[in-house]
Amino acid sequence: MAKIKKIGILTSGGDAPGMNAAIRGVTRTAIFNGMQVVGIRHGYHGMIFGHFTRLKAHSVSDILARGGTILKTARSKEFMTAEGRKQAYDNLKKEGIDAVVVIGGDGSLTGARVFCDEYYDIPFIGIPGTIDNDIFGTDYTIGYDTAQNTVVDAVDKIRDTASSHNRLFFIEVMGRDAGFIALKTGIACGAEAILIPEVEGQVEGLKDYLEKGYKRKKSSNIIIVAEGEKSGGAFAIAEQVKEEFEEYSVRVSILGHIQRGGKPSAYDRVSASTLGYEAVQALLDDQKSVMVGFHNGEVDLVPFRKVIKLKKSVDPQQLEMADVLSI
Ligand code: ATP
Repeated sequence: MAKIKKIGILTSGGDAPGMNAAIRGVTRTAIFNGMQVVGIRHGYHGMIFGHFTRLKAHSVSDILARGGTILKTARSKEFMTAEGRKQAYDNLKKEGIDAVVVIGGDGSLTGARVFCDEYYDIPFIGIPGTIDNDIFGTDYTIGYDTAQNTVVDAVDKIRDTASSHNRLFFIEVMGRDAGFIALKTGIACGAEAILIPEVEGQVEGLKDYLEKGYKRKKSSNIIIVAEGEKSGGAFAIAEQVKEEFEEYSVRVSILGHIQRGGKPSAYDRVSASTLGYEAVQALLDDQKSVMVGFHNGEVDLVPFRKVIKLKKSVDPQQLEMADVLSI
């Protein structure tokens, strides 16, 4: 492959704390290796409409500790069309960009794969960036650690009220169709039950549990519900419980977008910096159409085709453990 002289970098899909650390990692590693760096603002939308900005080493000063993404992020309908991708390709060529690093979730990596299947001469490397941790082929995604800490902090506070008033709280957390955030934070907060999209029929089990819990006079109950949970979400389940268990004082709390923001944790800063650095190393090693992730603590390259085709699953043993620990 011809020597790469200019790298484009973008963030796409939902923002996640630590994306800036990855942008910094890519930018400085590329400059260190004699390349120029172009920030593509607003994700694929900016690629189509030419939102390019030159990044120097100092352009990424003081961003390591900031949440969100300095390049902005977006979802682009146009990139889903062949015409949109052609316009993006023409723009990259015009700008002299000969490789691209995409930081985003599974949708963004799918977009990268579709693009690379159509245009072979611009290698793409992916970095998993989403708080949801729902990307196959990597144990870690940027922002997941910070989001978990945010949830734990919020649930601990709600627990104070729940136990002071003997209340039953349903707390809905993010994760789209995946239950990773719910499961881990449920364990971390000692939730009495964790409802996730990956497991069916949990509401009946919850009702059994509540029956017994009330008999034992538990002073408070925290139920963590993943937003993609299949029986209608926290409000719908709370309504059912209210109807069947009048003795419980039920409340619902939807944590919402606070889970996306905030300063990245030390773990996210280090991991995202590492992925940024490794993405450029992968390009220097002539890699293309791969995602840089972590497997068992080691950096790993996974082809886009696998990342997109396969679904990451939650660990059923952890759910079992959470049940045992909540008796
Ligand atoms: P998050 O998990 O945080 O929501 P994501 O990357 O999965 O992030 P999406 O909205 O699914 O977010 O995808 C981001 C963008 O990737 C889309 O707006 C679109 O531009 C592009 N994209 C997704 N799927 C495809 C596809 N099949 N073909 C082309 N582009 C795609």
